[in-house]
Amino acid sequence: MANDSTLNNEEFQLKNLNSTSFEFISGEEAMEKLKNMDDFLSNFSQFDLKSRTNLSSPTLEDYFQDISQHILLWDDQSITSVRSSIKYLNTTCFNQLKYLIFPSKIFLILTDGKIENNAAYCRNGNVVVFPKELLYSKDIFIHELFHIWSKTKENSILRDRLYEIIGFHQIPSDKSSRFPPLLNDLKITNPDAPLVMKYYINLRKSDDSDKKVYKCSPILYSCRSFDQKFSTNFFDYLIATTIILDDETFQPVEPLQFLSYENTKDFYKQIGQNTHYIIHPEEILADNFVLWIKSTENQQQIITPEIIYQINQIILNVN
Ligand SMILES: [Zn+2]
Repeated sequence: MANDSTLNNEEFQLKNLNSTSFEFISGEEAMEKLKNMDDFLSNFSQFDLKSRTNLSSPTLEDYFQDISQHILLWDDQSITSVRSSIKYLNTTCFNQLKYLIFPSKIFLILTDGKIENNAAYCRNGNVVVFPKELLYSKDIFIHELFHIWSKTKENSILRDRLYEIIGFHQIPSDKSSRFPPLLNDLKITNPDAPLVMKYYINLRKSDDSDKKVYKCSPILYSCRSFDQKFSTNFFDYLIATTIILDDETFQPVEPLQFLSYENTKDFYKQIGQNTHYIIHPEEILADNFVLWIKSTENQQQIITPEIIYQINQIILNVN
């Protein structure tokens, strides 16, 4: 467990624009953060709860009970991994990092990985939950920092401009598009991008028979009701696709129509080839942000450098 001397140590301070510090939390303090209602918890579906608790009629309390069993005390090795990611950002990535605003404090929670099927994820806009075995990865650390950056109010205009780089536009706020009620119970909520039906991308079908451009919004849902005998890992149920919206109202067309990423002509032309993690613009950008922030050292590996260049332009011009 981190003691006061480590918490105050400047090794855990980021050299970003507003000098963000990291705090290692566990036990009750961690649970208090994780119980806070945020866009993730308030968007939970029946499937979300069942797949995370393995119970047939779970409540949020059951979910909290379940995750509380998987929070670990911070050990020296895990703290060392965090220290090394911060050092890397403060040195190799300093020329990019210095432009970024994050919350003044970011809380880190360590788990055994048995929450969210061993994925790292964000909560409340300033909490990152890391499975112990993923902490070695600087890329995952930076990927999660992007989600924190993206959720920070001061960055919301910049974030929307980054989304535009890869072809995603905000659905006008007066349209208040709704997730289709028919799929409500099967909705899968991604803690890193918990809000759905907020952005759309213009896509054409690959067969292009009707030459039409469709407004499409990314969604995640389960292929079937939760059944322990089928699988307890929600990734085995996951359908990541887009739903077609009406051109005028931005509501899902009735009956529902989906356009999968592989059946489009121009999805990859817009989002580039820098990542395979394409389920939401937030994830596409998080992976591109990793490449951008590391761009002093790995430019030659970037397949679609234009996207990294544009991220750089947008983040540097405004500050
Ligand atoms: Zn993510």
